[in-house]
Amino acid sequence: MVGGGGREHALCWALQRDAPSTTLFAAPGNPGTAQLATNLPIAVTAIDELVAAARAQRVDFVIVGPEAPLAAGLADRLRAAGVPVFGPSARAARLESSKAFAKEVMAAAGVPTAGSRTFTDVNQALTYIDAHVEPLVVKASGLAGGKGAVVCETRTAAAATARAFLTDGTLGAAGREVVVEDFLEGEELSVLALTDGERIVILPPAQDHKRLGDGDTGPNTGGMGAYAPVGLTSPALLARVRREVLEPTLRAMADRGAPYQGVLYAGLMVSAEGVPNVLEFNCRFGDPEAQVILPVLPPGVTAGLGAIALGSWRPELGVLAPVGAAVTTVLAARGYPDKPETGAAIEIPTDLGEDVVVFHAGTTVDAGGVLRATGGRVLNVTAIGATVRDAARRSAAAAERIRFAGKQYRRDIARREIARAGAA
Ligand code: AMP
Repeated sequence: MVGGGGREHALCWALQRDAPSTTLFAAPGNPGTAQLATNLPIAVTAIDELVAAARAQRVDFVIVGPEAPLAAGLADRLRAAGVPVFGPSARAARLESSKAFAKEVMAAAGVPTAGSRTFTDVNQALTYIDAHVEPLVVKASGLAGGKGAVVCETRTAAAATARAFLTDGTLGAAGREVVVEDFLEGEELSVLALTDGERIVILPPAQDHKRLGDGDTGPNTGGMGAYAPVGLTSPALLARVRREVLEPTLRAMADRGAPYQGVLYAGLMVSAEGVPNVLEFNCRFGDPEAQVILPVLPPGVTAGLGAIALGSWRPELGVLAPVGAAVTTVLAARGYPDKPETGAAIEIPTDLGEDVVVFHAGTTVDAGGVLRATGGRVLNVTAIGATVRDAARRSAAAAERIRFAGKQYRRDIARREIARAGAA
C-alpha cells in the first residue's frame, strides 16, 4: 500500500477485513496502518525506493493510494519491474493531473461536462473571462491538492484568480495552465468505479463535504466528511454514468494508447434533469470518500484490486449495491486548512462503540509513545450502521469524544441526506 493517509488506512482495513490472512506493507503508512501492516519508511514520491521495496518484499501486487506518485509514473515503473500494480500509468493518470487534458478527452468523447476553454496566456484568459456570464469557475490545470478549483461569483474575482495562477504563480507549475469553466447547478455526487480498462464495476457513490464549517460555510478543504450511500443515486442514474461517462472515457483513453486501469473517480454535478456532468476525474480513491465507500462494500470486493493488478479480473456484477451505510467525520488540526498546527497529543477512547473505526490521516507516535497530530486532517471517524442517520449520529458522537487541543470538525455531516430521507 503506497500512501500514509486516511484513505490508505481504510484500504488496509478493507483488505484485511476481506482476507484476514493478507500480509500487508504500507509505505510510508501511519500509526493506523501499523496496526494492520508493516510500515516501511519510504515517501510516496521516492519511486526508486518503492520499486526496490516491492521487489525485496516479493509482494503479490501494489496499490497506489495518492495521485502524486501515479502522476509521477510509479505504476509504470512497478510494471516495468515486473510488479503487478493497481493504479493507472502516468499517461492515464493525466485524467486527473491535467484538467486541460481531461476536458479535451471529454469533449472528444462526448462526455457531459461544463463548457470551458483552456489558457496559458493571461491576456487571452482575461479577454475570455471579460465576456463570460457570472458566476464562472477558474481551475488550475495541474495537481493542486484541492486548492485548484475556484468558483467565482464575479468576472472580477475570476480575473483575479486567473492572474494569481498564471501571472503570480500562486500554485506553481500546477497553475501555469488554467481552465475557465461554465458554472453548473445541481447536486454533487462522487461515483467511483473499478476498471481494468474494459470491464467496469461501479461502487456505491458517496458525497463529501468540502467546506470547513457547518452548513457548508468557510474555506474549501480537502474534505471534512463524507457519507454513503447517497439517496440521489438510482439505477437509472448509474446506468447513465456508465454509458455517458465511464465507457466513452475508457474507450477514448484506450484509443489514445493510454488504457486506464485502477479506480476511476468521476466527480459529478447531477443536474435537475439528471444529467451527470463531470466536474473532474480523479485517478484514485477519494479521501475521505474511501473511508465510507470501502466499509459499505459487499464482502470480498477488495480481492478485485489484486485481480485487476494481475489481469485476471472477471467481475460478476456491474454495479455494487451498498451494505448498510457509513459516515465519516474528519477531525482537523487547529488552523486547518491555512496553517495547521502540529504536535497536539491525541486521546482516543477505547470504547467508541461497535462499528466505529478511527482511520488515521495525520498522526505520528512520538519517542515517548504518545500519539500526536502531524497533519491538517488528523483522524477520520467512520461509523458504520444500518442507515445514514444512525451512522451519522454515532460518527458525530465518537468525534466529540476523541480529544486533542485545537480539534476542529463538522457536526453536520450527512445532514442534507438525513433531511432528504426524512422527507421521503
Ligand atoms: P473540482 O476540483 O474540479 O472537483 O472542483 C472542486 C469543487 O468546485 C467541486 O466539488 C464543486 O463544488 C466546485 N465546482 C467545480 N467546477 C464547477 C462547475 N463547473 N460548476 C459549479 N461548481 C463547480
